[in-house]
Amino acid sequence: MFLLSALTAPFAAAVLLWSGYGFPTEAVSFGMALVAAATIFFGSAIRVQLPGTSVHLTASDSLIFFTMLTFGGELAVILGACEALYSSIRLRMNGLRMGVQTILLNVSITSISVFAAAIAVTAFFGRPEAAIDTVTISQLMLIMIAMGAAQFLVNSTLVAGFISIRNGESIIQVWNKNCFSALVIYLSSALFAGLLAKAFLQVDVYLLSAIGIFLTVVYFTYSRYVDAVRNSSAKAEKAERERAEQAELHITELEHYIKQLENSTSALRESHEKLHHTVYHDPLTGLPNRNFFVDHINGLFEQRVENGEEFAVIFLDINRFKTINDSLGYMIGDEMIRTVANRLNSSGVSSCSVGRFGGDEFAVVMSGIRSTGDAIAMAEWIAAQVAEPYDLLGRSVFATASLGIAVSDDRYSNAEEILRDADIAMHNAKEAGKPYVVFDQIMHARAVSLLELETDLRMAVERREFELFYQPIVNLGDATVLGFEALIRWNHPSRGLITPGEFIETAEKTGLMIPMTIQVLQTACAQLSRWKRARLAPRSLMMSVNLSASHLSQPDLVDRLVEIINETGVDPSCLKLEITESAVMGNAEASIDVLKKIQRLGIQLSIDDFGTGYSNLSYLHRFPIDTLKVDRSFVSTMEDGSENGEIVRTVIALAKALRLSVIAEGIESIHQFHQLRILGCEFGQGFLFSRPLPSDEATRLLEDPGRWSHILPNHDAGVIARNFEYTHMRIQ
Ligand code: C2E
Ligand code: MG
Ligand code: MG
Repeated sequence: MFLLSALTAPFAAAVLLWSGYGFPTEAVSFGMALVAAATIFFGSAIRVQLPGTSVHLTASDSLIFFTMLTFGGELAVILGACEALYSSIRLRMNGLRMGVQTILLNVSITSISVFAAAIAVTAFFGRPEAAIDTVTISQLMLIMIAMGAAQFLVNSTLVAGFISIRNGESIIQVWNKNCFSALVIYLSSALFAGLLAKAFLQVDVYLLSAIGIFLTVVYFTYSRYVDAVRNSSAKAEKAERERAEQAELHITELEHYIKQLENSTSALRESHEKLHHTVYHDPLTGLPNRNFFVDHINGLFEQRVENGEEFAVIFLDINRFKTINDSLGYMIGDEMIRTVANRLNSSGVSSCSVGRFGGDEFAVVMSGIRSTGDAIAMAEWIAAQVAEPYDLLGRSVFATASLGIAVSDDRYSNAEEILRDADIAMHNAKEAGKPYVVFDQIMHARAVSLLELETDLRMAVERREFELFYQPIVNLGDATVLGFEALIRWNHPSRGLITPGEFIETAEKTGLMIPMTIQVLQTACAQLSRWKRARLAPRSLMMSVNLSASHLSQPDLVDRLVEIINETGVDPSCLKLEITESAVMGNAEASIDVLKKIQRLGIQLSIDDFGTGYSNLSYLHRFPIDTLKVDRSFVSTMEDGSENGEIVRTVIALAKALRLSVIAEGIESIHQFHQLRILGCEFGQGFLFSRPLPSDEATRLLEDPGRWSHILPNHDAGVIARNFEYTHMRIQ
C-alpha cells in the first residue's frame, strides 16, 4: 500500500503540476465554474443504476469526461482530483474508515487515470476541446471509446493493484472480480459525456445549464420522492408484517383461550353435575332429599291432571331417635339412619321412591295407587321394617316409627301442601302413639285453626291485646296477701278472653313467647309500682311472673330485665320469676348460669309446678332459687294418708332442708288449707282465696286485707313457724 502510494504520488503530483501549468485560464467562464462545482459537489451524489446490473453511473465520471471534451484535459485532471478528494472526505465524515493515505491514493489514482484518458485522446485526435468541434459522430465515438478505455485501464489496474496488495490476492483475480464491470461505467460515462459535449456545442450553453440545473432539481426531488415512497412502502410493509405477526399471535392466544374455555366448560359441567347431585341428594344415605321430592311430587301432580293417576306421600319419623343419638352417640345414630334407608329401599316396589328429609325423617312417594288401602299397606310394611332389630356397630337397638299418610286429591295443587299434611298426620300418629295416621278433614280443620291462631297471635303481640290477671298468693299462717302471680289473658277481638292454655304452646312454637313475656313483665312491674306508689300495698308485696323455657335461653334476657326494672322503678327484690321444673332441668348447666345472673339483679326465683317433672336433686341444690311451688295436681287430690299427701309433705320437707320457701298451688278447699298449714306449708294460692283477677279487682282486694280472716281457726294462728323470711301484712 505504501509502495503503491509511493509510486503513484509523484506521478499524480507531476500530472497535477502539468495540469496546473497547462490550465487554460483564458477559457475560465461561468459555465466552467458551474460544471466544476457540479462535478465536485454533486457529481458523485447523482448516480443512475445501469439496468440489469449492479453498476452505477455517477454524474462525476461523465462530467469529468465532459470537462475534458469541453475545457481540455488539464481542467479534467484537476476536477477529477478535487472530486476524488471531496467525495473521500465526505465518505470519511459519514463514518467510513478511510485513512489519509487512502484518500491521497484515491486522489492520485483518479488524477493519473484522467490524465491517461486526456493523453490517449490527444494522441489520437489532438486536443479534445478543439477536436470536438470538427469530428464526425463516428470519430466522436472513437474518441469516447479511447477516452473511456484509457481511463478504465489505468484506473482499474491501479485499484486492482491496491486491493491485491491489501488482500494478498493476485492482481488479475482482483481485477476480474471487482474492476471489470467498471469498464461499462467508463464507456457509458464517456459516451454520455461525448454526446453532452456535442450537444453543448449545438445548443446555447446557458440554456443547457439551466436545463441541467432544472434536471438536477427534478432528479433530487424525484429521488427524495422515491425515497419517501420507498420509506412509506417500507413502513407500510413493516406495519403489515407486524399486523400479520399480531394476527398470528392473536390466533395463538385465541386457540389457547378456546382450549382453556373448553377445559373450564367441562370442569363447570362436572361441578354442575356434582352440585346438582348435592342439591338433590342427602349426603349420609345418598337418597334423594326434600328438593328432589318437591320436584318429583310436582311432576306427579302434572301427571295426575293428564291421566288422573293418584299417589300417596308417606312421612316417617323414627321414635325416640334423639335418645338413641344422645345415648349411643352420633356414629350409631348415623349407622341406624343408613340401615333404615337400606330397608326402605328394599321394598322392590318400582312405583315407590324413598327420600330422606334430614334428621330421622324419611318420605316415601307411592305413585299409581288404586286406593288409600295401598298406601296403608305400604305404611304397615315400612313400620314393620323399621321395627326389625338393628345391629349397629355391635350393639342391638330397637326402634319404632310414626308415619303420616297423605293421599293426592283435588285439595292439593303442589308438593308443599301434600308434604305438609303428611307431616301433620305423622305428628298426630306420634302424639297418639300409633304406627301410622292417614291425614283427614278433622286434622285439616285443626291445622287451619292452628294457622289462624298463629296469625291472630302475631297480631295480638303487635296490638298488645294481652291483659294480666292477678291471683293472690296468701300467707297460710295469717291469711294475708304475700303477693300476686301475674297470669296472662288474651283479649281476642272476636273470641273474648282466652286463657293461656289455648295459646301458650303456639306462642312458644312461633317464637312469639319472647315479645309476649316482655309485655307481661312490663305490665306486671308497672302495676306493682303503681300499687306501691298509691300506698295500697306494703313495700314487701311480691309480684310473680312466669318465664318460659325459651326465654331462659335468650342471650339478652338479663339486659331486658334491667331495662324493665329501670323503666318501671320496681324493687327487684319484690319481683319473682317462676320457671317450670322441666324448663330449668332441660339444660341444667346453662340454666344455673342464667339464674345466677338474674339472682345478682336481686330478683327472686321460683320453681313452678314442682313435682311434675323429673328433678335431679343434685341440681336442685345448685339452682339459685328461693321458692318451690307444689303443683296443683298434688294439692287438689291430697287427702289424709294419700300418696299425693305424702308427696306434698316430702316437698315441704325438701324445701325446708334446702332453705327454700314453699307455695302450694290450687288450694280450693278449707280442708286443703288446714292440711297444708299442719304440714308446715307457708304460702298458698288457689280458688279458695281468689281466682285470678283483673287489675281493678285485685286493687280492691288489696284494699280489703282482712277478707280471709274468717277461715283462720280462732285459737290457732301460730301453727306455722314464725321465722318466715317474708314480711307480710297482718290481718287487721
Ligand atoms: P301456673 O303458672 O302454674 O299458674 C297457675 C294456674 O293455675 C293458673 O292458670 C291459675 O288460674 C290456675 N289456678 C290457680 N289456682 C287454682 C285452683 O285453685 N284451681 C284450679 N283449677 N286452677 C287454679 P292459668 O291462668 O290458666 O295459667 C295456666 C298456665 O299458663 C300457668 O300455670 C303458666 O304456666 C302459664 N302462664 C300463664 N300466664 C303466663 C305468662 O304470662 N307467661 C308464661 N310463660 N306462662 C304463663
Ligand atoms: Mg306460675
Ligand atoms: Mg304452676
